[in-house]
Amino acid sequence: MKGSLRIGVVGYGTGGQAAAALLARDGHHVEVFEQAHVLGPVGAGFLLQPTGMEVLRQLGLLEATLQHGARVGRLFGETREGRAVMDMRYRDLDRRLFGLGMQRGALFALLDSAWQEDRNIHCGRRIAAIDAGRGVLRDQEGHEHGAFDLLVIADGAASRLRAEVGEAVLDRPYPWGAQWCLVPRRDWPFGDELRQRYAGARRMAGMLPVGTRPGDDTPRMSFFWSVPAASLHDECEGARWRSDLRDVWPEAADTLQDIAVPDGLAKARYRDAAHRRWYRGRAVLLGDAAHAMSPQLGQGANMALIDALALRDALRTSNGLAHALAQYERARREHVGIYHFWSRWLTPLFQSERDRLAAMRDRLFHPLTRMPGSRRQVLRVLTGTRRGWLGVVPLDPRLLDALEAHAERVSPMPCRAFS
Ligand SMILES: Cc1cc2nc3c(=O)[nH]c(=O)nc-3n(C[C@H](O)[C@H](O)[C@H](O)COP(=O)(O)OP(=O)(O)OC[C@H]3O[C@@H](n4cnc5c(N)ncnc54)[C@H](O)[C@@H]3O)c2cc1C
Repeated sequence: MKGSLRIGVVGYGTGGQAAAALLARDGHHVEVFEQAHVLGPVGAGFLLQPTGMEVLRQLGLLEATLQHGARVGRLFGETREGRAVMDMRYRDLDRRLFGLGMQRGALFALLDSAWQEDRNIHCGRRIAAIDAGRGVLRDQEGHEHGAFDLLVIADGAASRLRAEVGEAVLDRPYPWGAQWCLVPRRDWPFGDELRQRYAGARRMAGMLPVGTRPGDDTPRMSFFWSVPAASLHDECEGARWRSDLRDVWPEAADTLQDIAVPDGLAKARYRDAAHRRWYRGRAVLLGDAAHAMSPQLGQGANMALIDALALRDALRTSNGLAHALAQYERARREHVGIYHFWSRWLTPLFQSERDRLAAMRDRLFHPLTRMPGSRRQVLRVLTGTRRGWLGVVPLDPRLLDALEAHAERVSPMPCRAFS
């Protein structure tokens, strides 16, 4: 498309931040509306996949991202009795690949630094309604903003605006959520692994190294503990909570001994959402607002970043807004669809009350993922590079070279087993 557009972005989370930076750099006039009074990160530490790293590379943020993130080469899950349920290594797909555990604060600060020029952010503005035909936003006080040429709706998994853009095929809260917190890494021995522990499907704990963030050099880990959504807001009693965790994972319980329970634990709920259309008139959905899913596959933040890049590219190469939005939706749907499918099927294996399913998982998941052929398929899904059933999201050789060079510079983390 020729010329610059006036673009209103709703939400300054991962998707809104990336979209604002990418679109402003293409010469568009971007205005962001964020409900929070003070800008800051939302949510737990997370695993950045190579697909998400590519977006940061295109924003010129890859070096800083690699510097702050913790290299994760292995995803390992076991039962509390020590039976391996999942053991996947990025290098089995490509020796140059790895994931990056990151603090939300680090990603937030990096993306924020990418949009400094002509920055226009309205904080404390909750958008209550949109007029997709006129390109107008209405905030909670009834003030109208716009008209904009394009409205990017990036208000997250609990979006109240998405129904005004596309008819929902699915939009429901997931019955399980998580408590989480950041802890200093200290002498945790698995510095380059995402580790999970399972007791059936009712209890799951995870520990992900998430590196540092600008202004704080302490390497940290993100801990999460699966909880049914119905009891997420119950006041859990500290001693009981700790003994439940100790029963599943004594070493994690030791690591969390300084964390106040429940005050030091943040709470997260998940949602499944899918839409028949991602755009209407001048409005388009992006990130979790378009396709929320449970974080079991660790893809949501990556998907939000890729959406932003796809929207930028569609605006660059299309004639006219309607054509660009259709191109954006087409480009993203096939990639997102397969992750929706797998997250809906796999999440109950790890977070549900289905004990028999969990017993089958414990016996079959690991052997199945070791079979020739299926291992690569599973790795494709985990690395975010599966498109449709058999397609592949290609990774730019410049990204692969940068990852290889980084791995050569950083010595491998010492991995010793617990005694
Ligand atoms: C426990 C947990 C673990 C996760 N782990 C991973 C992982 O390992 N890897 C991964 O890729 N993803 C992970 N995710 C998913 C990831 O967090 C989300 O997919 C990602 O944050 C989506 O980005 P977004 O920009 O769409 O939404 P968000 O980051 O939620 O941002 C939405 C923004 O919109 C603002 N907003 C909302 N409503 C309004 C309104 N009406 N007006 C103005 N502003 C509004 C909000 O304040 C917020 O700033 C995890 C999620 C959870 C809960």
